[in-house]
Amino acid sequence: MSSLLLQHDLFIDGQETPSADGRRFEVRSPHDGAPVASVAAATAADVDRAVAAAQAAFLAWSALTAYERESRIRKATAHARTLAPEIGRLMALEQGKPINQGCSEVLGACDTIDYYAAEAVRIEGTINPTEHRDYRSMVIHQPIGVCAVITPWNYPVSLLSWKLGPALATGCAVIVKPTTVTPLSPAAFCRALVAGGIPGGLLNVLPGSGATLGDALVRHPGVAKIAMTGSSPTGKRILAAAAPTLKKVSLELGGQCPAIVCVDADLGNAAKVAAYKGFRNCGQSCSAVNRIFVHRDVAKSFLEKLRAEAEKLTLGDPLANPAADLGPMATADGVETARAHVADALSKGARLLTGGGAPSVSPGPGGRYFLPTVLADATPDMRVMREETFGPVVGVAIFTDLDEAVRLANDSDYGLVSYLFTRDLATAHRVSERLESGTVCVNHGAVNTNYGPYAGWKDSGYGVELSRRAVFEYLKTKHIKFQL
Ligand code: NAD
Repeated sequence: MSSLLLQHDLFIDGQETPSADGRRFEVRSPHDGAPVASVAAATAADVDRAVAAAQAAFLAWSALTAYERESRIRKATAHARTLAPEIGRLMALEQGKPINQGCSEVLGACDTIDYYAAEAVRIEGTINPTEHRDYRSMVIHQPIGVCAVITPWNYPVSLLSWKLGPALATGCAVIVKPTTVTPLSPAAFCRALVAGGIPGGLLNVLPGSGATLGDALVRHPGVAKIAMTGSSPTGKRILAAAAPTLKKVSLELGGQCPAIVCVDADLGNAAKVAAYKGFRNCGQSCSAVNRIFVHRDVAKSFLEKLRAEAEKLTLGDPLANPAADLGPMATADGVETARAHVADALSKGARLLTGGGAPSVSPGPGGRYFLPTVLADATPDMRVMREETFGPVVGVAIFTDLDEAVRLANDSDYGLVSYLFTRDLATAHRVSERLESGTVCVNHGAVNTNYGPYAGWKDSGYGVELSRRAVFEYLKTKHIKFQL
């Protein structure tokens, strides 16, 4: 795929720099296992350097007017857009998603940051009536300071932008810690923003392990806020580690998302959306449809349509076949989990409708390709119906009345996104109000929009991302009371 081994260093105060102890790690292609890059692994000493740079940059950035910040951010995203093909290529190399999808992700990330740039000039305070003629009361919001932004590998640039957008707009400085699976595209994106005019020290990138580097960032007294996307167990560890220094924390965590297909649903649309959300990015999405509950009377027809949609999807080399629907899965562990969930379901009586493992001819030698998989006759005790598979595997069970469907959908430790398919307006309202998740999509799969708050319930999250509400995750509130 690539004969050239890329070299990436840390990015601190606008400078490329090796790590304090000179250690590096390797990134390998999920397509064929070939080495792609050698990356500097940051240490706790590097965290000190990055925090010092960020604190200095924060003083200058937060002192700008909101209009100055908005204009600087927009110039930076305009520059990053011109580099979308190159950043998308890095994402294809390290993560495995087809390059066209990587490019779109970068452009979408710029749109998100621009959405928040506009918010910079709308951070309004309030003036309150007071209990005394000579009192005046004013509430203002101020940037929280240095933010540690900890991201996963499935959407390495998009999920970064959800945090960078509000952080930069409100006047905060940022230290980004991407995963060791996908350090290249987020670092290239941040470098592009700095090349486009964001001050160097304001946006630092420290690649490295979660357990050591991530933990050092979370505990650092100079970091005021943690914004993390990742798995629920990691999120809980971060919340506990942040407690002694009482940092503000927002967490977007795992999901095990149900879809209910009612008897009156447009089955063609439900199958299309379920396949898109179940298999896009090889199911490596927090909002992936994991388990489907379909009404008994339409189950046969729906399953046939879902199988057909799954079999339409093309698998291909993410660089050589840019328009492929699916590339390889990003990690070997992910492939193992998908295989284990399929085997578990089959051993408990599920029926394999399509997929089930690697394609007979793999697009990459030894690559991590996995066919979109549909398991019928699924039951709640199967792992695919309870755990986050994070792979292209969907279980389908049957229900007979809506109360049962809602009970099954809510029977989960997660509460991120629920999907509902019905043509009946009353059912759409009543059922979506009863579903225990931060987002409900009725008849579609366009889950994340800049204007809509994304907040996981139960084990799926803590705080809010996206929408105007996320801005307040990066602000402190101050009440100033005067006696005249
Ligand atoms: P992960 O939890 O393994 O890692 C996430 C990030 O946390 C990585 O950068 C990792 O290095 C870091 N980390 C790990 N241990 C840490 C520690 N002790 N202290 C500080 N940082 C630490 O998740 P992943 O495997 O990279 O991503 C997949 C997970 O992310 C899935 O569970 C998925 O559902 C979730 N996710 C959630 C959303 C959402 O918006 N809710 C979006 C995408 C992915």
